[in-house]
Amino acid sequence: MIGDIENLRIHFYGVQGSGSIFPLKEERDDIRMNSDLDLLEKVFSKLQDKTSANNTLDCSLEEILDGPLTKDSLKRFRDSLAPQEPTIFGGWTTCFRLETSDGYDIVIDCGSGFRLCAQDLDIKWRDQEQRTLYILGTHAHFDHTEGFDQSNVCFDPRNHIHFFANRSYLTSLDRHLGIFSHQANRNDEGRPTPLNYEMMPASFESTEIRDTVNDGAEPNQMVSQYHDLGEPIQIGKTTIQPFSVFHPDPCLGYRIEHNGKVFVFCTDHELRRGDNPDFPLQVASLEAEQRLIEQAMNADVLYRDGQFLRAEYDAKKPLGGAIGVPRKDWGHSCIEDVVDMAIKANVGRTYIGHHDPSRSWSELIKIDADLAKQSEQAGLHFEMAKAETIIDL
Ligand SMILES: [Zn+2]
Ligand SMILES: [Zn+2]
Repeated sequence: MIGDIENLRIHFYGVQGSGSIFPLKEERDDIRMNSDLDLLEKVFSKLQDKTSANNTLDCSLEEILDGPLTKDSLKRFRDSLAPQEPTIFGGWTTCFRLETSDGYDIVIDCGSGFRLCAQDLDIKWRDQEQRTLYILGTHAHFDHTEGFDQSNVCFDPRNHIHFFANRSYLTSLDRHLGIFSHQANRNDEGRPTPLNYEMMPASFESTEIRDTVNDGAEPNQMVSQYHDLGEPIQIGKTTIQPFSVFHPDPCLGYRIEHNGKVFVFCTDHELRRGDNPDFPLQVASLEAEQRLIEQAMNADVLYRDGQFLRAEYDAKKPLGGAIGVPRKDWGHSCIEDVVDMAIKANVGRTYIGHHDPSRSWSELIKIDADLAKQSEQAGLHFEMAKAETIIDL
């Protein structure tokens, strides 16, 4: 049972990029094998302690198990050995939730992990009549919106859901569901969902984040109000600064601060590795990277997209296929670059996510182990993000 929230509690529900995955049988077998071997090693070294000089066991089974052989005594014996937890990366696409010390729930993105997030909210809000959920959207791609209409929160009339996002994120949710405009293209062929706002009794509100200084506030029937990109959003004691990152679809990152604790969220951002420094996309990418470094400077925790290894990005090494495929302009960064950036910005703990759906769990485990070594060298913490992680700041 987790205690009170001191400042911010960050829940990782979905850290998978581009599409949900479930590990293959060989990968599950691999994970099980590693756990079994770890446990057996601990059992046999315990037995070793109880052998006599001529190398034979010197005690009864009851003595080892501290009682007769039952499920309970086996469980106690197992727990006493502190077996290693299998490393589970989770297979759901992007969704995070922040619980604040002053009682707010703030979700970032509604990938397929949002379904699990909504289940947790159901439990937390069980007896609550007034329920407001704030959702910060990053961008319109499917892996950041796909879980929205699968979640319970849409179907409870007591729930009010207030989105802060750019125009394309709001449009992606409204186009077929009509949750903001109350107009849905129900007769379109090829709609991605059978649902629409009439089946969703929760109420929905939208604040569009845009550069109102330079681009103005272009009227739109699905937008309840506008918020300028350069201004922080205030939710209770939490201050949220949105900023633009570099991705094929306009995408936002967020710097979230509460009582001096800082969490920076940056999914789907590419530090572009082009040859021509004057090429407009290269310039835009470097500018966005610089913005990110400024926002992340001395942050406590950073979550950032690192979908590829550098050799995979450059097509020198295949990822999930027979041949290497260049990943330039796919909108995602390299793990090595995320580490460099986190060192530059002196970030306390960096979680690298948006895992490529073709990357196996065993590869993730290997990269994670490499990052643990680099963490020691740098005196900072780098880790491959894992679903179900909970961080208290
Ligand atoms: Zn994505
Ligand atoms: Zn994307």
